[in-house]
Amino acid sequence: MAGMTSSARPFLNRRLAEFGTTIFAEMSALATSTGSINLGQGFPDTDGPEEIREAAVRALRDGRGNQYPPGPGVPELRTAIASHQKRHYGLSYDPDTEVLVTAGATEAIAASLLALLEPGDEVIALEPYYDSYAASIAMAGGTRVPVTLRPDEGDDGDGEGAHRRFRLDLDELRDAVTERTRLLLVNTPHNPTGTVLTRAELTEIARIAVERDLLVVTDEVYEHLVFDDAEHVPLASLPGMRERTVTIGSAGKTFSFTGWKVGWVTAPPALVGAVRSAKQFLTYVASGPFQYAVAEALALPDAYFEDFRADMLRKRDVLAAGLTEAGFKVFRSAGTYFITTDIRPLGESDGFAFCRALPERAGVVAIPNAVFYDHREQGAPFVRFAFCKKDEVLHEAAGRLRRMSA
Ligand SMILES: *Cc1c(COP(=O)(O)O)cnc(C)c1O
Repeated sequence: MAGMTSSARPFLNRRLAEFGTTIFAEMSALATSTGSINLGQGFPDTDGPEEIREAAVRALRDGRGNQYPPGPGVPELRTAIASHQKRHYGLSYDPDTEVLVTAGATEAIAASLLALLEPGDEVIALEPYYDSYAASIAMAGGTRVPVTLRPDEGDDGDGEGAHRRFRLDLDELRDAVTERTRLLLVNTPHNPTGTVLTRAELTEIARIAVERDLLVVTDEVYEHLVFDDAEHVPLASLPGMRERTVTIGSAGKTFSFTGWKVGWVTAPPALVGAVRSAKQFLTYVASGPFQYAVAEALALPDAYFEDFRADMLRKRDVLAAGLTEAGFKVFRSAGTYFITTDIRPLGESDGFAFCRALPERAGVVAIPNAVFYDHREQGAPFVRFAFCKKDEVLHEAAGRLRRMSA
């Protein structure tokens, strides 16, 4: 049997056994073999700003970052991260003691959990969740406690369900906290649902964290991708939160360079110190020359961030219109790269089966949201589409979905 020795003990340990394979590999292979448009995995098909690519080339040519950069990240980047938090949110962090550069947000999440959890500690996370959360909690020996975001029709009488979104039940969150809860793992704007937690919701989350003395790790990689009237409120900016919050950002999502793997953590010195202790034995350091380029990217004028948002909003609307016309129920994406849909109006109820058939039926690949749930049945009818693609690709995908065969 594959993956077993003769003693029949599997190679992959028990902590990770349930995470053996990801749906992304299967779906990307399907996209290739059927010539489908891949709206499964969330990466842009256009690189970020040319001047930032050039900044990376310049750093590499000038010999900056070609050898191990400093463990916490190059000073230029740490300073730029601190300035970014100040400029956009009025949050002050000391670049020397309160900022840590990581190998993408993924390492920031893993290092935070490895550093902050004792085996058996409970971690509350908002389900559906980004796939690395469950695995990182498991690697850290923690116990995940999902609190499920539930669809809310939010119909304000316009018949279009314009405010239809996935909503956090704050009572459920409150009830999920036990004596063993150590940490809340929050993600806003939220992947895969496109929900952006409101100031009122975040204020309540903050109140619970303070009352129950919990640490908070907040994944804010889509901080600059909020649409319409949604507002990104960093949890660390709320009363009582700065001292207990590890905030995570990433250049991958904000500047469309997902392959560079430059992420960061901002937190008070004791928390950053703890995360750094774990991080130093994961990658130690990463992405040397790219760190200098991202320092320049973070200092780009407001126009960059506004244009980026306007661009993605237009893309969201192209895809949302196509999905609506094709008969999906579309949840309003207030942020991120993603739209979550409900396939039940199409007479379907199993997102896995639907996504496996979709390449043949329509020439489009999507991801069944059930993979992001512990309670898989809760996610069964939901399917996620990424819109961080060229306009012509989205128009073509929308057309294919409209013509979808039965
Ligand atoms: C993409 C993504 C990440 C990972 O970011 P990297 O910087 O590429 O490691 C983390 N969290 C969420 C919610 C994401 O969508």
